[in-house]
Amino acid sequence: MTSSHLPVGILGGTFDPVHLGHLAAADAACTALGLAEVLFIPSHHPPHRRVEPLASGYHRFAMLALALADRPRFLVSDAELLASAWSYTSVTLRRLHEAAFDALQLFFITGADAFAEIATWNDYPAILDLANFAVVSRPGHPAAGLPEQLPMLRDRMAMRQGEGADHAAGKAGGTRIWLVQAVTPDVSSTEVRRRARAGEPLDGLVPIAVERYIERHHLYR
Ligand code: ATP
Ligand code: MG
Repeated sequence: MTSSHLPVGILGGTFDPVHLGHLAAADAACTALGLAEVLFIPSHHPPHRRVEPLASGYHRFAMLALALADRPRFLVSDAELLASAWSYTSVTLRRLHEAAFDALQLFFITGADAFAEIATWNDYPAILDLANFAVVSRPGHPAAGLPEQLPMLRDRMAMRQGEGADHAAGKAGGTRIWLVQAVTPDVSSTEVRRRARAGEPLDGLVPIAVERYIERHHLYR
């Protein structure tokens, strides 16, 4: 991971476990915005959502490493797992600034479901100036629906369809909210955990190496 001025994607999440939807969202953001790399940052589990069998940070990291092994532009970061407590996205972005990344070169990738809640995030609205946002459609949550859902942010939004590498567009002003209209598989970690618990196959939902890992380590039982 370098801090040259190339555009870099950041994909935060619990990744419990990583699945093909995450990889497709990162691919779509890369294609639409010409990203040089995507850094996947697994979070500490937020303590309030512990109601079912879940994987430790070690297992979540291992599954990400397996999922990204043959994708040289995709990297996994231990930054949030090494921190002593669960970390806000705004804190992670500020740490990247301290590591010499520029707000204009950072693209925080989220699904449209997650971004719809942006007004509840810590450090909103200042967080919008800490990075560009690359908001990718998720089945049932089209990115194109966001200007209507979040009218107060409409002026900061720009639509991306197909390919485009003129990430310099952000240089004209400040950071932007890039709406990436793409088709990603209808997969969630919740559904993967449900199937693993029921002993059902996971093919088509997670990379094969991740499926084997979940079976071998009896995760989510
Ligand atoms: P859970 O069901 O446990 O909430 P999840 O599948 O939503 O898991 P997260 O780790 O919560 O996965 O998601 C991390 C980020 O990836 C979020 O911004 C989310 O919107 C995005 N994302 C997850 N699945 C998809 C998908 N199929 N298409 C597009 N974006 C996705
Ligand atoms: Mg989620």
